[in-house]
Amino acid sequence: MLEDVQIERYSRQIILPQVGGKGQEKLLRSQVYVDGDGLPAAAALFYLAAAGVGTIGMARAKAAPIFSALAEQSLGADEQPAAPILRRLNPDCSIVTHPNEDEQPPHHYDLVLATTDTRHDGWYAQRKPFVWGATSGENARLFVSWGDRADRPCLRCLFSDPSAVFDVRYGDPTDSPILSPPYALFLGTQLVTEVLKIILQPEVGGQPKLLAYTFPAFHCTEQTVEKNPHCAVCAPD
Ligand SMILES: [Zn+2]
Repeated sequence: MLEDVQIERYSRQIILPQVGGKGQEKLLRSQVYVDGDGLPAAAALFYLAAAGVGTIGMARAKAAPIFSALAEQSLGADEQPAAPILRRLNPDCSIVTHPNEDEQPPHHYDLVLATTDTRHDGWYAQRKPFVWGATSGENARLFVSWGDRADRPCLRCLFSDPSAVFDVRYGDPTDSPILSPPYALFLGTQLVTEVLKIILQPEVGGQPKLLAYTFPAFHCTEQTVEKNPHCAVCAPD
């Protein structure tokens, strides 16, 4: 049951028929892991917290530069700069930092928002939806790998080695190519939109599609993705 302060806090999204009070309660019970760094991940963290996702997990070492710049207080050994900022943004959110970015995060997360494909296969094995976004130059890609739906393609059906096709990193000025900040932030909001759709209406979902954005025109194309019967990750034995 939402408290009065929460009804006021989330009023602008509770009035949406896709959300409502029940949907907001569902968001507050949900647990999302953010895997990745850089501006798309930082934007995603902001919007997940603002939407009232109850538990947001991330690896301590994946500190987005934007949070490092904003952090005003000394941080504990297991803290990363995003945590205190997000807690201040929305005290309803539990921000959990995990000490080792190389280990698979705990099983209790409902789904993953990722700007890297590194741990996709592990998450798929956990049967978790994996909302993936990547950037390269003035292009961005978005795809949902439905680990919980065996009839749907996974990320590896799309790219056997995504990192060879796309530089999925952003944020370190030595990285190249670099997506401009407004476009990176846009991708972050699109990733969160997909996450919220899965949490609020998991039964809804069209054909699996790769969304390809081209900037600065914000041109978006959709490519239907078929399941690869020989996929190393999701094909039946
Ligand atoms: Zn696959």
